[in-house]
Amino acid sequence: MKPIYKLGVVGIGKIARDQHLPAIAAQPGFELVACASRNASVEGVRNYQDIDALLAAEPSLDAISLCAPPQVRYAQALAALEAGKHVMLEKPPGASVSEVEALHDIARSRGCTLFASWHSRAASAVEPARAWLASKDAGAIRAVEVRWKEDVRRWHPGQQWIWEPGGLGVFDPGINALSIVTRILPHEIALRAATLTTPSDTSTPIAAELDCIATNGAPVRAVFDWRHGPVEEWAIDVDTDAGRLSIREGGKRLSIAGKDIALGPEREYPALYERFHELIETKQTDVDVRPLRLVADAFLTGRLVETEAFGR
Ligand code: NAP
Repeated sequence: MKPIYKLGVVGIGKIARDQHLPAIAAQPGFELVACASRNASVEGVRNYQDIDALLAAEPSLDAISLCAPPQVRYAQALAALEAGKHVMLEKPPGASVSEVEALHDIARSRGCTLFASWHSRAASAVEPARAWLASKDAGAIRAVEVRWKEDVRRWHPGQQWIWEPGGLGVFDPGINALSIVTRILPHEIALRAATLTTPSDTSTPIAAELDCIATNGAPVRAVFDWRHGPVEEWAIDVDTDAGRLSIREGGKRLSIAGKDIALGPEREYPALYERFHELIETKQTDVDVRPLRLVADAFLTGRLVETEAFGR
């Protein structure tokens, strides 16, 4: 029988309620014991104001899942690792690449699991897409185009942290596309140029264009835009010698050379908790910073364009 790990969840907001709590409830390998959130509580478990109170009062916890915004991820993860807990990070795994690398180092030195989760990689189209692109059937990859266009007012109503430093702006959803691209392509990709369009009243971009190149020379272009709606798009097209592979709806649909591919049911967060359990059981870490590094490179090299105030 699989071991059951005692789990605490920190940061009870939209994603914790929509996805984490139901996925944990359905996962027999974890028992939700306690939560920490400044303004929210979860019925049926013990609740604390913050992670320090949680760690102090619950020494028997095995693992912590962090669901607050990225700006507070490092301090929370550090506290959990220093208490000897296994840690799962929501995406993005931190507000900077160096934070995540430091956490990884601490986790390894303490023998704790650190899992930097990328929920979009668990979307049902991703593994079939990766397998086809890795196979001989696909031939060479010629070009990749990403279009991630949505209405920020629909998906992030009232959320201020996305507009603050470390909040990533349009890269908050855009990094999901980058997590898929870096998973499915059989080549590494390097950022060559970027444009970041930022409203005059925010610290983070509302739109971004990234021009990358794969190590086989194929161009990889990504356009992220938060000024769309009601028509939204979460699309990735990969042109190969054998035709076009298209991912739609953020990974819910896949077609290859014009043919729709039948996919399994959507189970992003249940799959993440299965993976977290497996990592703890096998004493491993899983920390892939490549999507965050591409975002960091865009901030490092990008041309900055100011646009009209967002009015947040
Ligand atoms: P959220 O609802 O705005 O924030 C989650 C909770 O974190 C808040 O309710 C708040 O609870 C706590 N929090 C906020 N600021 C904090 C701070 N400065 N210090 C400590 N706690 C703070 O955000 P969310 O949409 O759930 O997103 C959280 C993370 O999940 C982000 O990294 C996001 O990229 C990721 N994610 C979100 C979605 C989505 O659809 N929303 C999807 C996938 C991944 P208290 O006030 O009670 O402390």
